[in-house]
Amino acid sequence: MTNTDTADVDGTVRQVTELVEAGSELVRVTVNNDAAALAVPEIVNQLRGDGVTVPIIGDFHYNGHLLLTKHPACAAALAKYRINPGNVGAKRRDENFSTIVQIAIDHDKPVRIGVNWGSLDKALLTELMDANAHRSPPRDAREVMFEAMVESAMRSAALAETVGLGHDQIVLSVKMSLVQDLVDVYRMLAPLSDHVLHLGLTEAGMGTKGVVASAAAVGVLLLDGIGDTIRISLTPAPGGARAEEVRVAQQILQSLGLRSFLPQVTACPGCGRTTSTFFQEMAEQIQDYLCHQMPVWRGAHPGVEGMRVAVMGCVVNGPGESKHANIGISLPGTAEEPKAPVYVDGELSVTLKGDRIVDEFLDILNEYVARTYPAGDPVPAS
Ligand code: SF4
Repeated sequence: MTNTDTADVDGTVRQVTELVEAGSELVRVTVNNDAAALAVPEIVNQLRGDGVTVPIIGDFHYNGHLLLTKHPACAAALAKYRINPGNVGAKRRDENFSTIVQIAIDHDKPVRIGVNWGSLDKALLTELMDANAHRSPPRDAREVMFEAMVESAMRSAALAETVGLGHDQIVLSVKMSLVQDLVDVYRMLAPLSDHVLHLGLTEAGMGTKGVVASAAAVGVLLLDGIGDTIRISLTPAPGGARAEEVRVAQQILQSLGLRSFLPQVTACPGCGRTTSTFFQEMAEQIQDYLCHQMPVWRGAHPGVEGMRVAVMGCVVNGPGESKHANIGISLPGTAEEPKAPVYVDGELSVTLKGDRIVDEFLDILNEYVARTYPAGDPVPAS
């Protein structure tokens, strides 16, 4: 999701393009006022003119029914509308919600019903809390909260279908900000619904904490077979790249073996057997090289994103990991002979020595990529 002011067309186009270049397959933009709604068609036009075909999704709260009614060009330009059923008005909730759904039907657009625990429908929560008070024994308040999240999504989906939106035009999400809560609420929702489910730990936070919490939450659910699309909600450091959340999402999917985006480098953590930083530097150089090459390789060498490269610090695990990778190098440990065996497809290929080990290894890597992932062959040869 972008964090630019959507009314800033050039800035938003620039950030959408950055997200797409990082690999985003859907991009959501805030549509919170007339200026943003007026900007949306221009943003989509500029992107299409630049050859960027990513679907642009509008995020609506409080006034989505008004904006989409007043700005039909915005409604037409967006690929999907996200509605938060807790933020469509208290008194005229169903009417406002239905207005958005009717506009989605008129424009043949899907809708994501995005429940968020920070803006959960208070009337619904109160209703379920009251009902719970009459239970004997009453359920834990946390459970009732999850029940309200699920109920909000399910009732909203039912209302959308009553208005006439197709069953397959509805996406559901029930985002929480704590890992265990997110896992529990999606495990409650999944057996009750066959709608497409969007996953994400909302307000995951900054830096390592946000990355680890998101990976833990989304990873558990994906391994359960729950979830069809994901978004990683990281707070960027001031001036930090928005695209970081895309890279984290990709890494989660690739680590779980669900999708491949980038050749993976297996590197050992190092220990007392290797006292120089050479292998750390080499692992970093190779990883940077792979990232740098991917925009070219992606088109020229289909399947290369599934390649595994090992860079290991000594002979203890080096040859073993190298044999399991497509291509691997085992550097000499502190007391070992100064030579680095290279394995290709599990076989010892060559032993490198001297000052040009990195360059020579990259030459071998390039030759391997050209030979193993030829143009026009989407299936890797190994
Ligand atoms: S491969 Fe060697 S250097 Fe790396 S962690 Fe294992 S023992 Fe230590």
